[in-house]
Amino acid sequence: MTAHETDKYVYDFAEGNKDLKDLLGGKGANLAEMTNLGLPVPPGFTITTGACQAYLATGREPDGLAGQIEAHLEALERAMGRRLGDPHDPLLVSVRSGARFSMPGMMETVLNVGLNDRSVVGLSNQAGRNDRFAWDSYRRLIQMFGKTVCEVPGEEFEHALDEAKRVKGTHDDLDLDAGDLRGLVETYKKIFAKHTGREFPQEPREQLDLAIRAVFESWNAERAILYRRQERIPADLGTAVNVVAMVFGNLGPDSGTGVAFTRDPGSGAQGIYGDYLANAQGEDVVAGIRNTVPLQELERLDKTSYDQLLDIMARLEGHYQDLCDIEFTIERGKLWMLQTRVGKRTAAAAFVIAGQLVDEGLIDLDEALHRVNGAQLAQLMFPRFQLDHGIEAVATGIGASPGAASGAVVFTSARAVELAAEGKAVILVRRETNPDDLNGMIAAQGILTSRGGKTSHAAVVARGMGKTCVSGADEIEVNVPAKRFTVGGHTVAEGDVVSIDGTTGKVYLGEVPVTPSEVVQYFEGTLDPERTDDALVRAVHRIMTHADTRRRLAVRTNADTGADAARARRFGAEGIGLCRTEHMFLGDRRELVERLILAATDADRTDALAALLPLQRQDFVEIFREMAGLPVTVRLIDPPLHEFLPPLEQLAVNVAVAQERGEDVAKEEALLAAVRRMHEENPMLGLRGVRLGLVIPGLFAMQVRAIAEAAVAVTRDGGTACPEIMVPLVGAVQELETVRAEAEKIIAEVVGDSGVEVLIGTMIEVPRAALTAGQIAEAAQFFSFGTNDLTQMGWGFSRDDVEGAFFWRYLELGIFGISPFESIDRDGVGRLIRIAAEEGRAARPGLKLGVCGEHGGDPDSVHFFHEVGLDYVSCSPFRVPVARLEAGRAAIETTGSDSR
Ligand code: ADP
Ligand code: MG
Ligand code: MG
Repeated sequence: MTAHETDKYVYDFAEGNKDLKDLLGGKGANLAEMTNLGLPVPPGFTITTGACQAYLATGREPDGLAGQIEAHLEALERAMGRRLGDPHDPLLVSVRSGARFSMPGMMETVLNVGLNDRSVVGLSNQAGRNDRFAWDSYRRLIQMFGKTVCEVPGEEFEHALDEAKRVKGTHDDLDLDAGDLRGLVETYKKIFAKHTGREFPQEPREQLDLAIRAVFESWNAERAILYRRQERIPADLGTAVNVVAMVFGNLGPDSGTGVAFTRDPGSGAQGIYGDYLANAQGEDVVAGIRNTVPLQELERLDKTSYDQLLDIMARLEGHYQDLCDIEFTIERGKLWMLQTRVGKRTAAAAFVIAGQLVDEGLIDLDEALHRVNGAQLAQLMFPRFQLDHGIEAVATGIGASPGAASGAVVFTSARAVELAAEGKAVILVRRETNPDDLNGMIAAQGILTSRGGKTSHAAVVARGMGKTCVSGADEIEVNVPAKRFTVGGHTVAEGDVVSIDGTTGKVYLGEVPVTPSEVVQYFEGTLDPERTDDALVRAVHRIMTHADTRRRLAVRTNADTGADAARARRFGAEGIGLCRTEHMFLGDRRELVERLILAATDADRTDALAALLPLQRQDFVEIFREMAGLPVTVRLIDPPLHEFLPPLEQLAVNVAVAQERGEDVAKEEALLAAVRRMHEENPMLGLRGVRLGLVIPGLFAMQVRAIAEAAVAVTRDGGTACPEIMVPLVGAVQELETVRAEAEKIIAEVVGDSGVEVLIGTMIEVPRAALTAGQIAEAAQFFSFGTNDLTQMGWGFSRDDVEGAFFWRYLELGIFGISPFESIDRDGVGRLIRIAAEEGRAARPGLKLGVCGEHGGDPDSVHFFHEVGLDYVSCSPFRVPVARLEAGRAAIETTGSDSR
């Protein structure tokens, strides 16, 4: 690499703006923006991400950086009229990391850089002989510098602080006087020397350089690397470093520090929300060392600053056209802005705020649609705990899988299964779950763990099952052998009821009342958006309506019954993309299926099929009626037939018991023999899908006939039916051609001149089908991508096994950031879809393309399907609104989703 003496590595705040986040990081870009708005930001400068990249590439500061820092520091000193660390009148600075995306594991902030044994005296004099303040600032510097720059264990400092308070007989750090703090500084220095093998650096410029270097290096901290891999944040962005002149909130009662939001980030309601802490510095507000007061109190404490703050917040909102959060400090009655950014918010607040901003004329409906997302909408559709239940949470973990669940506590999978079998709602509580807990997780209403994050086994598996889960509630001490857990002085034994909120991560003792989602009531049509005063429902209605006018993708549903179909239509489905016919072989029809499987002669088999025909026909009649002229894609039977037989062990027991009793066991024995004969090592890759149709004479023919007859019957009654017959698991065009030839004959015979049109198409779910889509399209009137099987076979993952067995590890290692069964793997499985779509359409222009399978309701996947040019997605009824919303967002966002 050559030296770039002309590269600009350092920007004064006045030189940047909010759009330079890639160069200056989020914090730096927004500090620059506020400076240029004329807001009171302490002066400072930002060292660019480019400098960090160069440092990380070569292991040393790039040429020119030291000089540029020197020049900007001198300018800062001139502006402040003080020199860094000057013994008589020191300038102090903070060193703050700030990447494009905020990232756990990155170095935090070091305040009060420039203090040493001499300048601490100067600082005291500067502050009107305020020794306490000066020594407090110095001990904070050693603590933060030691911990974040030199990796001294933070607890050692905390213990020393606790010890000082204990000696003084107090719990409040404000009771420590200058002498106590001076003593603490001595202790801190010893701790520092013990862990680093050197004295605490006294040279201010050395402090500054070491802190800047530590920020650079923290980009490659283990946790930061892991987080980037999971979130697919490029590894080479680097972080910026902000150097900011210190202002002091710890100068006395007329000083303080606070955080605030320009609207309620919980509900979206207008108004001021924030916390303030007098006589404190930096992170004290959020660290919870003392009780903060609501921001409104500031009006009483310091009306001038309060009014100015409100004024600034209004300006920031207007400027960013969004909810902002801010950090500020007041130094002896003078307000300083230390940070702002577009603030995080709950799902409900996102919709409400987007609606309000449209009303206020700040943004248009496209922008409102852009600012909400399907994940938020999905969250709002879960039942939740009543807002005013007034019960205090006893612990807060990670909201790992949304929903609200109450039930009796159990500690083992076996006990969960037992109690659930008695009809009890249970919550499975474990330190962590592992694959042995699967049955218990299925049986439970919800899962609560004291360890592990969003990608732990419990979290991953629960999300896959749609179960409520709170993970990593580490205030909870789980004792499995004793069948109890303790939390904050409470002991909860097996059988006691707890409630968990999988969205907020909160854990409650006892049963918390649950309310259905008002958003679902709206979709169901029981809550009129024009007449409710529920701001959320009105905003959802407005944005959904806009999404529908924008989207190009149609949204269908997966539904197997008339009832499902009806519900999905209320949710906005425009047809059925997947009607599975296998449930039509269950229940009291099992017996007919057994007859079919055991048929010894052609005649036996024909009889069994003939008996199934009218039942199937009736099922289709109901569905076609319900969908009234909308397309209905019916998939011919897909699962291996042995799935319809009882399990081997159960049959063996039945035979033994019947023999014991001297009963006739002929049929049981025949079934047992059939199960043994039909056993497959890999059923997912065995005799199923189109293969069944080719091997068992008359099976597909019966289904095709039932579909065609039902369509004709509905049409005769004055309705309209648009059936699309879908052949599963095709891998070669010859398979489809064979099925199609037979089906077309039957259809022609049944349909006659009724005017009914029946399409025949195929699923694309075997990789070979995707790769030979050009050939297959010759025989198919439509394709529907079966993304579950395509993922399963594309990755070689047996879904039922791998999610529980090792996906947590893959997520932990960052091999993928999200399960490919949850969100489409664009690069691999997605590529198969792209190839099939392109080659299919090249062979048959206008080929209808859709997707069925859970990915059809996954936000990010919907964007992908839009980009690839599919005609529709199909998903479970509950996901239909999510797909509508995301299809609308995809249509207005040409460059994919920006949900980070
Ligand atoms: P984070 O990214 O964790 O929010 P910040 O860099 O914002 O870290 O620093 C945390 C807190 O430290 C700020 O909210 C502010 O209260 C305090 N702080 C940072 N720089 C200064 C400064 N120059 N003067 C006074 N306080 C500061
Ligand atoms: Mg901050
Ligand atoms: Mg399939």
